[in-house]
Amino acid sequence: MSLDSITRKALDGVLPSDAEIMFLIEQAPERLPELLGHAHRVRTAHLGRKVGLCAIVNAKSGTCSEDCAFCAQSGHHAADSPEYPLLSPDEIAEAAARAKAAGATRFGIVASGKLVGGRDLDGFEAAIRRVAALGMIPDLSPGILERGQLTRLKQAGLRGYHHNLETSATHFPRMCSTHRYEEDVDAVRAGLDAGLYVCSGGIFGIGETWDDRVELALLLRELGVPSVPMNFLTPIPGTPLEGRAPLSPEEALAIVALYRFLLPDRQLRICGGRPTVFGTNRQRELLTAGASGLMVGDYLTTRGGDAASDLKDIRRAGLVPARE
Ligand code: SF4
Repeated sequence: MSLDSITRKALDGVLPSDAEIMFLIEQAPERLPELLGHAHRVRTAHLGRKVGLCAIVNAKSGTCSEDCAFCAQSGHHAADSPEYPLLSPDEIAEAAARAKAAGATRFGIVASGKLVGGRDLDGFEAAIRRVAALGMIPDLSPGILERGQLTRLKQAGLRGYHHNLETSATHFPRMCSTHRYEEDVDAVRAGLDAGLYVCSGGIFGIGETWDDRVELALLLRELGVPSVPMNFLTPIPGTPLEGRAPLSPEEALAIVALYRFLLPDRQLRICGGRPTVFGTNRQRELLTAGASGLMVGDYLTTRGGDAASDLKDIRRAGLVPARE
């Protein structure tokens, strides 16, 4: 068994065996640069040299009914995060125009909460039309949508449905007690069945094991999710995970590389927690570690980086910003 032999399998889209997955994880501390180099090779073979850029707006913030332990927007925690109802279509369109000027092509409208009421659905529909009219790709992260709601929003121009599974089915009950993991999996399936581009991934550094990371990746692979957002915990005061140390850059890079071997042809988009884990100096390492997309601008409740410096890093790495 060797990195070369596992890489050859990944180049053909073949899933590594359990022993090979273990071998990849064991390479992480000692042979990290080689692991990352092989992951980058798999990434360029399947996805070329393009880096997908997306941006989001926190369109409805706080007072969420759910109690996800890592999230500042839960109404169950004492985090000092903004609270406001759904922004108007005009406000969302203004944020989309700013994101477009910064180089993003996909624009995600993100709203806190588990289920979507009728008034918010009307607001989403109007905002989706406005974002599409700007020539951007409208995505929506609204919680769980019913099939009829998905169809209606797709007819309005919705292209992407975003719903993270967050972590493995095994670890999830330790992170959230207000809904079942299966509800999230069903939401992802409904988005795929509706013919939408589904973004579903997770957050790392929340006490999950390597087994949990593998379990999540294999489920995403089985579901056929085309795009996998990867977030890293920023511990937020007032949340149950406030005292947890952020992941080291090395561990986060190893997770990205592992995901490239497990999901060789999927978009791996690095989202929240990038500045927390990598600071300003090490973010560019992600671009040659198997990642194929970046979220630019601010995240939901934390500040992001400078999109211009992301574009510079992309070009320096010999990569090109992608239209999707
Ligand atoms: S992660 Fe989503 S569902 Fe969970 S508390 Fe935060 S906004 Fe609510």
